[in-house]
Amino acid sequence: MVTAEQLYEKLKNIRTGNPVCQFTREHCDRLLPTIKKIEDLKREKNAVILVHNYVAPEIFYSVADYTGDSYGLSKKAKESHADVIVFSAVRFMAETAKILNPEKTVLDPNPNGGCSLADGITAADVTRLREKFPDHTFVCYINTTAAVKAQCDVCVTSSNVYAIIEKIPNDKIYFLPDRLMGENVINHLKVRGVNKDIQLWDGTCYVHEEYQPESIDQVRKNFAGVEILVHPECSPSVVDKADYVGSTSQMLSHVRESRRDSFFLLTECGLSGVLQSEFPEKTFAGSCTLCKYMKSNSLEDILSVLENPSPHHVITLNPEIQSRALHCVNQMFNYSN
Ligand code: SF4
Repeated sequence: MVTAEQLYEKLKNIRTGNPVCQFTREHCDRLLPTIKKIEDLKREKNAVILVHNYVAPEIFYSVADYTGDSYGLSKKAKESHADVIVFSAVRFMAETAKILNPEKTVLDPNPNGGCSLADGITAADVTRLREKFPDHTFVCYINTTAAVKAQCDVCVTSSNVYAIIEKIPNDKIYFLPDRLMGENVINHLKVRGVNKDIQLWDGTCYVHEEYQPESIDQVRKNFAGVEILVHPECSPSVVDKADYVGSTSQMLSHVRESRRDSFFLLTECGLSGVLQSEFPEKTFAGSCTLCKYMKSNSLEDILSVLENPSPHHVITLNPEIQSRALHCVNQMFNYSN
């Protein structure tokens, strides 16, 4: 189990949201009793805790067994030998863990954790679209509910979307629900000389759609030599001006390998916090925006879900939806290999 000193070492360089908000050693001391209870329950129930890169750093650096982006965490969920998976992120990610682990108990400590992308399209919408576009392969971003995945052919994440859409042996693709990511895919394929008919649903991530290309111009003017990293949920006008485009885990690896020492990130605040902690010798300027859904996770809720989960914390899926959604997610693993 992490000690207060070790936790403070990880958190002391992180400024979340407001530059004057900083973790103190006393704050870490106060978190320890809750962390200890969670660790005891994990052992007792043979549970693992998966934590997304955007979740609050005191969770990320204390009770997480695995951290990462949605692709990495879905792989971990698939490989896990635990009886219980606690998924600290948002609802669609916990559902994805259940799709991959129907025999395991999957607990969502943040059951109201929506997502503007996942909540923007329903299974009935996809059924209607399939009637309109019968020859298209339906590709869904992982930020979708299990019911939507069950209506689609192949699932993708931000780390493999470009490569998988290029590989699919059909020139007609319907990509949903992220319109901006879809426009980025179209541009990327055009540059590679790949011509596909790609239809898009009009959904967006409310965090990433806010970023504007002018802020990149401003940063380049003010910080010479800065490297600009953006998430593919940003608009093409932002992506076009970036030095690197990738998922949160890809950005982490990129910073680790980059020779530059100052970075500007256009993504949710959680990643800036992780990078500030992991690379204290580097500088991270960032347009830091919080995702209200990811940030509604707490250590107290993780403890409570392990102690006494109520029905809305336990992910249950209709077996037919589970099996069809599993086929869709497995197609992603097949195309990734
Ligand atoms: S950051 Fe955007 S895509 Fe990610 S969970 Fe929040 S709303 Fe959804």
